[in-house]
Amino acid sequence: MKENTLLNTLMNLDNAFGVSGDETDVAAVLRKEMEGLYDEYMEDALGSQYFIKYGKNREQKILFSAHMDEIGFIVNYIEEDGFVRFYPVGYHDDRMAVNQDMIVKTEDGTLVRGITGSKPAHIMTEEDHEKVQKIEDLFLDLGTQSREETEALGVRIGDYITFAREGYVLNGGKFYTGKSVDDRAGCAVMVEVLRRLKDTQIDPTIIMVGTVQEEVGMRAGGPIANNMEPDVVIALDGTLTGDVPGIEARQCSEAMGKGPGVKFYDWDPILGATGNNVPRKLTRAIIDAAEKNGIPYQREVITGGGTDAWSAAMTGRSYLAGGICIPARYMHTAVGTVHMDDMENTVKLTLEFAKSYKGL
Ligand SMILES: [Zn+2]
Repeated sequence: MKENTLLNTLMNLDNAFGVSGDETDVAAVLRKEMEGLYDEYMEDALGSQYFIKYGKNREQKILFSAHMDEIGFIVNYIEEDGFVRFYPVGYHDDRMAVNQDMIVKTEDGTLVRGITGSKPAHIMTEEDHEKVQKIEDLFLDLGTQSREETEALGVRIGDYITFAREGYVLNGGKFYTGKSVDDRAGCAVMVEVLRRLKDTQIDPTIIMVGTVQEEVGMRAGGPIANNMEPDVVIALDGTLTGDVPGIEARQCSEAMGKGPGVKFYDWDPILGATGNNVPRKLTRAIIDAAEKNGIPYQREVITGGGTDAWSAAMTGRSYLAGGICIPARYMHTAVGTVHMDDMENTVKLTLEFAKSYKGL
């Protein structure tokens, strides 16, 4: 049995299957990691997982959410010659789906291996070389040569697919890379925060929620807020960094290893020009907790992605909502990467914010 560390927890969660709409495997891993760390547990109809740790004040509730789901694909057709056709689930970059190892999760939970094939470079035309192959034009090769053989493996229309990639630490340094660090990194932070609160009781009640279907439209934000009616909702989610070649700092100013991002604006990718302007009293309280405890942080204003907190903000009677975000590279690809110092500082900031919370 591996020691309960932030890194091991991240690995266990990251390696679990959990394409939006089928988060049962990752939810089971999260429940295992959370064992003994909470007072009450609940699952809602969508499948979000709630872990409640009562504070001295039961009525003062802070809800932290991290989404369990990952982007992936869904089988939409099986060809007569056995190849599997699929559609994207969540927001993808078509460039990264070609020539990959994949896993299909069948109805009975079996994980079937496959590879996304493409035309070899030798016979590609000049035009082929210029254009990106669309996900809809790709196919999955399961090593079968007929529909019957593919179906004999248990694969059916509607099964979900994700990348077959085990996460690991790059060359013994501080960068961890895995298929679903967005947002298993946030899930791991939730576990670690409760671990550090084990045997202590702080003032507010802490509710950690592993949410479902964030990648297909931040669907759990409203339900989780309405179910728990907390004082504050804070998303612990991944965010973009600009410290790689090809990105201008003005587009994306956060960098790896410089601390969690404190969200000032939570953008809505569906509606585009709208989102949640995080209330200043909330950003101030988070930043106060960082500064009083010497925790590095980055001020975050980016577009291009939102969190469950924005959809929570304007639901029901409305909620104070914001985000403490984990800097990541290569988001929404199979090689997402986070920095373990950022993970540690996200845990610390979440913890200190909760400990110092006196109401807003
Ligand atoms: Zn995310």
